[in-house]
Amino acid sequence: MKALCWHGQGHVRIDQVPDAKIEEPRDIVVRITSTAICGSDLHILDGLVPAMERGDILGHEPMGEVVDVGRDIRDVKKGDRVVVPFTISCGSCFFCNRQLYSLCDTTNREPEKARLAMGQAPAGLLGYSHLTGGYPGGQAEYLRVPYADVGVVKVPDGLPDEKVLFLSDILPTAYMAAENCGIEPGDVVAIWGCGPVGQLAIRCAWMLGAGRVVAIDAVPERLRMAEAHGRAEVINFREQDVYARLMEMTKGRGPDRCMDAVGAEAHAAGTLRSALESAEQAVGLAFDRPYVLQEAIRCCRKGGTLSIPGVYIGQSDKIPMGALMNKGLTIKTGQTHMPRYMKMLLGKIEAGEIDPSYIITHRVKLDEAPEAYKTFRDKKDGCIKVVITPG
Ligand code: NAD
Ligand code: ZN
Repeated sequence: MKALCWHGQGHVRIDQVPDAKIEEPRDIVVRITSTAICGSDLHILDGLVPAMERGDILGHEPMGEVVDVGRDIRDVKKGDRVVVPFTISCGSCFFCNRQLYSLCDTTNREPEKARLAMGQAPAGLLGYSHLTGGYPGGQAEYLRVPYADVGVVKVPDGLPDEKVLFLSDILPTAYMAAENCGIEPGDVVAIWGCGPVGQLAIRCAWMLGAGRVVAIDAVPERLRMAEAHGRAEVINFREQDVYARLMEMTKGRGPDRCMDAVGAEAHAAGTLRSALESAEQAVGLAFDRPYVLQEAIRCCRKGGTLSIPGVYIGQSDKIPMGALMNKGLTIKTGQTHMPRYMKMLLGKIEAGEIDPSYIITHRVKLDEAPEAYKTFRDKKDGCIKVVITPG
């Protein structure tokens, strides 16, 4: 079968690889009909994610038709259309019993590697690093889905792929990120990053009772979408001082809830900045702006909450711990506990309460996917979300 594979920083290509097949009784095999590229894939493309191996198949936002089932699978059968969550969970360990599915103790195939890097192993993830199990991903013609009896959602007839595809990751991610904000009615919620996650998080913040949503980015098309579809007030961080503008908007108090929907991209830029800092300071140059975590901690009102759906990798530098502690802020973060949210959000899609397909700007075939990665990374042609249809 054909699959999109990683071959080092900046290189992805379509390779011929062995067909996906049933390996365990709880597996299913899905013929992929739609699969998206995620901001997390860009971290891999950019070489920010450790423990990747050349030839790894990427992709963790897949859906399609079930073509084979393992002998322990009861709830889905051949021919069913399903959406597959990016987290792999056993459904019965200490963590799954507490609905902390992305922390599942059982599904990481390379727990020793993970323990060395993180102290403990998080759950297995599709199409990601070997620190999260090194499972082959879904930007391919077929996908083996392990532990398919946990989280895989059957799609009711009549709902097109594009309406339900984002149940695989970014809609639940946006929802959990908004939930992690702990929004109280009328709160001002500020969201850094108007990529796919940020766009949907704006919608989820409204659903959970925000009184005002402010969205921050510098890509004009993304800011326009945040205004038009998200009814958010926007700040272009290249044109305005984010701290000054947020203080002005909140009469000096700061937003009640802040969200970092940017993650490692800004971290990488921040790391670069701090590496340059001593040199720049030596010649008396100031920095134009801090990176997102610093900025959000600085802007958040005292006693407020910082929700971080943005993915971070390894160590991050220069967290203003003094401000965090003295302002009494709460931080919540994590990979999304997918099965907690998928059916509930499917219900909202069926009821017409949300249709996340408006964020799709690019539709490509599998052969065109390597080029589409670059379009998405460079935010060319107004690109906000790419959907691949292997066909
Ligand atoms: P994306 O790369 O399309 O969006 C990131 C956006 O942040 C871009 O629009 C960029 O212009 C903007 N940005 C960059 N620097 C900024 C700054 N200093 N201030 C404000 N905005 C800035 O990615 P995405 O698909 O929307 O994903 C966003 C983040 O969420 C990524 O880190 C991704 O890995 C993460 N993610 C997490 C989970 C999870 O389970 N927690 C799931 C999916 C994605
Ligand atoms: Zn993703």
